[in-house]
Amino acid sequence: MEVHCEGCAGCCMDWRSLLEDATDADVDADADHQRRTPFDGESARAPLDDDTNFVPLIRDEVRGFLESGMAAALTPRFWHARDERESVTVDGHSVAAVAGRPVFFVGLRKPPKPVAPFGREESVWLPSCVFLDPESLQCRIHGGEHFPDECGAYPAHNLALEHETECERVESAGGGTRLLEAEIDEDLDGLLLGSQALGAKLFAHPRPDDLEGIVGRAATGELTAADRAECLAIAAGSSPGTLAISEHHYEWGKARALETTDTDSSGDDRAESWVGPAIREWYRRAGDEGETAPSPAVASAVEDDRGAPDTPGWDG
Ligand code: SF4
Repeated sequence: MEVHCEGCAGCCMDWRSLLEDATDADVDADADHQRRTPFDGESARAPLDDDTNFVPLIRDEVRGFLESGMAAALTPRFWHARDERESVTVDGHSVAAVAGRPVFFVGLRKPPKPVAPFGREESVWLPSCVFLDPESLQCRIHGGEHFPDECGAYPAHNLALEHETECERVESAGGGTRLLEAEIDEDLDGLLLGSQALGAKLFAHPRPDDLEGIVGRAATGELTAADRAECLAIAAGSSPGTLAISEHHYEWGKARALETTDTDSSGDDRAESWVGPAIREWYRRAGDEGETAPSPAVASAVEDDRGAPDTPGWDG
């Protein structure tokens, strides 16, 4: 497999709003391909959220982000149940569950960032991965200790499942060649579909009542830091292949997520990493500046000056 990524980052952002000529139905149908479902690899359940390129993390990656004070980078994803047999109702939503426990992924957040992908001259606000440098359109954690397995295997997983890749969608929408060679390794692993996913990448909450309010806010994009902390803690306490939750790791994960959120009750900033303050600043700027996006170079003030890792640039 070989891809041409310069000037793209289509798999790291939600660029549906750039598809001006496509109908909403066309775009949604296309986007469904990217909504990786954990249960059987084929039959997609619709997620409650609207992220087309959600990056699911495995348990140890969640723990790693928590250890590094980057809980603010993470968010859960729930799904609408396909039928009553797998359903639990929370906040009026019939959510997918295993053994009566609502299931969810944990992945990376996408705050609005000013980006100019696919040769655009003007930048535009697009939901973009917390780790995407909007200026170079490169990943700030590529190859590092926190680089997600899922990103390292993309788009090979989509090719293995015979799903359209983001590279091909970008080619269809804007021309050019992004997917240079589609041959994938025979020993590709890490798909974690079906029962393999449980406790490793697909987390099950043992107390559905504790999700009251959280599921509703997940559906409206209004999750709070405390909401996310509850889900991250369950993920941190999960055990691959089982429904068991380690109380020790749950308590540790909850405390770690809460103690590294952006501000305490007095409003003082106590973030341990650049991630939370940068996300907050992007939302503030996108709200203040409305439709008009600034140059992607403002990332230097929003992210780099707060300690975000550099990217090499495409000439490097
Ligand atoms: S972690 Fe890096 S490669 Fe993965 S979606 Fe985010 S920016 Fe893209």
